[in-house]
Amino acid sequence: MRHLKLIMDSHFINKARQYIKCKNSSRKRIKECFYPGCLNESINSHVLQRKGILDQISTDSHLWTFEKDVFYENEFAFKRTGLKKAFAFNCFCNTHDTELFKEIENGDIDFTSYRTNLLFTLRTVYDEIYKKMVYANTRDCLLKNETNLFDKDKLKKESENAKLAIDDLKILAGKILYDLDNDSQQFVIQNRAIPQIGLCVSSFFTYETSAEIELMEKERGRELERYTELFITIFPYKKDSQLIMAYEKIDEKKVENYVNEFFLNDHPQICYQKITNLIIFNCQNKVFNDQFFNEKIKGIEYKYIEATQFMLNEQNKNERTFYNINFYNNTFKDDFVNLNFEF
Ligand SMILES: [Zn+2]
Repeated sequence: MRHLKLIMDSHFINKARQYIKCKNSSRKRIKECFYPGCLNESINSHVLQRKGILDQISTDSHLWTFEKDVFYENEFAFKRTGLKKAFAFNCFCNTHDTELFKEIENGDIDFTSYRTNLLFTLRTVYDEIYKKMVYANTRDCLLKNETNLFDKDKLKKESENAKLAIDDLKILAGKILYDLDNDSQQFVIQNRAIPQIGLCVSSFFTYETSAEIELMEKERGRELERYTELFITIFPYKKDSQLIMAYEKIDEKKVENYVNEFFLNDHPQICYQKITNLIIFNCQNKVFNDQFFNEKIKGIEYKYIEATQFMLNEQNKNERTFYNINFYNNTFKDDFVNLNFEF
C-alpha cells in the first residue's frame, strides 16, 4: 500500500508541475493591451488601485488571497500574498491604464457619478477576461502535453467554454466603453457605503441558477443566448467600504428586486447578510486583510473550502443560496461553522 501511495503522489505532483508550467507560460503569452485596437504592451497593474485602496487595508504590503491550489486536488487555499501579485492583472498598456481610469485614481472619487461606478465595473469585466484567457491558454497548453496525465476531452471542453465566455465578456466591455464615450447609460448601477470591512471584491456572477437555466432551456428547446450577469465591487474608501453593484438595463425587470435588497436603508442587516453570502459562495475574486483573516477565517479555513466546493459541485443546482450569516456579527464564525450544506 505504501508503495502504491508513493506512485500516486509522484503522479499527482508531476501533474501539478505540468499545470503550473502551462499556467505561467499562458500568463506570459498575454502581452498586448486589451483596449480595442491598441497594440501596445500591457503592464502589471491592479484590479483595484494599490494607492488609496489596497494599501489602505494591507499590512506590510500583504493581503490574503483565496485560490485554487493545484498541489491539493480540488482544494482551495488561503495565502498571504504581496501586493505586487494580489489583485494584479496585465490588461492595459501604460497609456490606457492611466488615461482610462484617471477619474477614479486621482484625488477624491465621486461615487454619485455614473461614469465613476462604470469604470470600476469595467475593471472587473477586463479582469475576468484576463482570468478566462489564462484559463483557456493553460488548457490549450496542457492539450499539447504528450503524457496521458490529463483528461483531454475535459480540457478541450473547458477551453471551449472559457473562450465562449470571453466573447460574451468582450461584448459587455464594448458596451461599457460605448457608454463612457456616449453617455448612453446601458447599465443600472447602485452603490452605498457600508461599515469598513477588511476585504476587496471585484467579481461577477450569473443571476440565474443552474436549475432555472435547465428549466428555461427545456421550455425553449435550445440553449440560452446569454445569461444575466451581476457585477459586484467592494473596497475600502476613507472611513467606510463602498459597495457597487451593476447589471445591464435590459435585465432590470428580472433582477431589480433582488438587487434592491442590498440598498434598503432601513434594513442594512439584509445587505450585510447578502454580501456575506455572495462573498463566500459566489465571488471568486477577493482579497482579505490580516485583521479580517484573523477574526473571520483563521481556524475555520476548511469551512470556506467546503462552501466553495459545495457551490462548484455539479449536483448543486441552486447557486443563489441565502444563509443566516453576517460578517458584521460577532457570532459569524459559529453561525458559519454550524451550517449544513445539502443538495
Ligand atoms: Zn493600450
